[in-house]
Amino acid sequence: MTATIIDGKAFAAKVRGQVAEHVQRLKDEHGLTPGLAVVLVGEDPASQVYVRSKGKQTVEVGMNSYEHKLPADTSEADLLALIERLNADPAVNGILVQLPLPKHLNSDLVINAIDPAKDVDGFHISNVGLLGTGQKAMVPCTPLGCLMMLRDHHGSLSGMNAVVIGRSNIVGKPMAQLLLGDSCTVTIAHSRTRDLPEVVRRADIVIAAVGRPEMVHGDWIKPGATVIDVGINRIEGRNGLFGDCDFDSCAEVAGAITPVPGGVGPMTIACLLANTVTATCRANGLAEPQGLTA
Ligand code: NDP
Repeated sequence: MTATIIDGKAFAAKVRGQVAEHVQRLKDEHGLTPGLAVVLVGEDPASQVYVRSKGKQTVEVGMNSYEHKLPADTSEADLLALIERLNADPAVNGILVQLPLPKHLNSDLVINAIDPAKDVDGFHISNVGLLGTGQKAMVPCTPLGCLMMLRDHHGSLSGMNAVVIGRSNIVGKPMAQLLLGDSCTVTIAHSRTRDLPEVVRRADIVIAAVGRPEMVHGDWIKPGATVIDVGINRIEGRNGLFGDCDFDSCAEVAGAITPVPGGVGPMTIACLLANTVTATCRANGLAEPQGLTA
């Protein structure tokens, strides 16, 4: 069997198109232009690339982008003061603090200072709790993107066995919550899981969010399963980016698979834009965009 390739780049373009349409409607019918503020502390090169890309795509879908670049030695008090200003600014509907922060800053404290209604990354403890209890939350972008691709491919996920490899707060745990919300039977695996290949072989849906290049092999995959590869890794001596799955051997067995690059990655920013529209609608008591939320 050769797997269907789930084209995240094309799917993300479709999501951005839907976001742009909704933004236009908000402008035309309600005089609202959603605004996304991105805060970058320091000069981490990868973070700078992400922030630039986020800003560009925000403007492309018709929203306002506000970039706040602060020096690496910014004090916690100054950063918290900026977040307070953004919380109070009616032109700002979404706030994202680019992680990782420099070591002298307490990320939990900073993230939890964001107004939960503007927390478009979905990392605020209130949103974590709302998601965990099945209530309306702002949902972390990468897992939301994975869920959208799975729903698009399968329709209903009800009753499917899903194995999420990785239990981080930003990917693994919220991914598991979302799959549970769609009535999957969910297993969360991690570095202490015994006989991981055997656990993965039971899965109709495999989400690999580990950070170890090409760890998951084709002989771990149940024939016909759907494999969502969240990993973004580099391998010394080889050019390009590599997922957590060995693409060639997994694609031989899986029913569908996301490539790296061009799978989950593009969906993450598309979902950030979708979350900003959702936040704008909720803040103004308007109907949320269909298909862009969990
Ligand atoms: P973390 O390092 O926070 O978490 C990795 C998880 O993998 C941990 O739960 C860890 O287990 C588990 N793990 C590590 N080694 C093994 C192993 N040998 N067997 C089973 N489980 C293992 O990573 P993130 O969740 O932040 O990211 C995961 C990957 O996804 C990375 O490659 C990252 O670059 C990528 N990523 C991609 C995004 C995108 O937009 N496409 C966005 C975010 C991340 P334990 O808890 O026991 O240590």
